[in-house]
Amino acid sequence: MSKDSRELYYKDYLEIVSLFRKYLEENKGMGRGQKSQGEESTWKEEKSEGLLEDLRRSIQNCQECSLCRSRTHLVFGAGNPEAELMLIGEAPGRDEDLQGKPFVGAAGRLLTEGLRQVGLSREEIYIANVLKCRPPGNRNPQPQEIKACFPYLERQIEIIRPKLICTMGNFATQLLLNTTLGITHIRGKPQWYKNNISIIPIFHPAACIYKSAWGKTFLEDLKMVSDDLRSR
Ligand code: URA
Repeated sequence: MSKDSRELYYKDYLEIVSLFRKYLEENKGMGRGQKSQGEESTWKEEKSEGLLEDLRRSIQNCQECSLCRSRTHLVFGAGNPEAELMLIGEAPGRDEDLQGKPFVGAAGRLLTEGLRQVGLSREEIYIANVLKCRPPGNRNPQPQEIKACFPYLERQIEIIRPKLICTMGNFATQLLLNTTLGITHIRGKPQWYKNNISIIPIFHPAACIYKSAWGKTFLEDLKMVSDDLRSR
């Protein structure tokens, strides 16, 4: 081999080494079966979405309490499966029962507008309820209904792993915090769920329709929720 062609091979060799080094640097920490950071979050999203869908399918014909006899649809929950913020309400109302989606009636419109005012959108959060089926005439959830339905909500929280939960109204707040304190005493005061997820209890939007004086506090508390989320 001539000296010139040896130099040419050597130049190619150096170029390949440098390209390989660049590749390794760009994919630092990757080994067999590992994923880069971007891929990791997409993968988690797909995983949470799939797990939520599995759960939804497994409970869609739930008959654990008598509400199954009067429901039109079971209202599982809606939103981003990887949400950092989860909102939890009480139970579906008439519109939610008809559409199979949470917070789509009058209380839902108030909630959506409140979220917008504090810079949050329904697409980035996840919304669920304590009960998945509508109590007839929108009566209060009964203890045996809450007991039967709670494992579903617990599993949703486990899958989504939010950083912050916002409980709306007495039922969600008392259930998740295992307290008998009323919402007027506890709203706006950050608490813990299972020692590792922050909870901020706020008024239920439906209550603010009937007690318009609560509307200002509702918005202030939602702002606290949004600020807390953005500061993480
Ligand atoms: N009220 C709730 O608590 N949940 C809904 O989905 C609608 C109204």
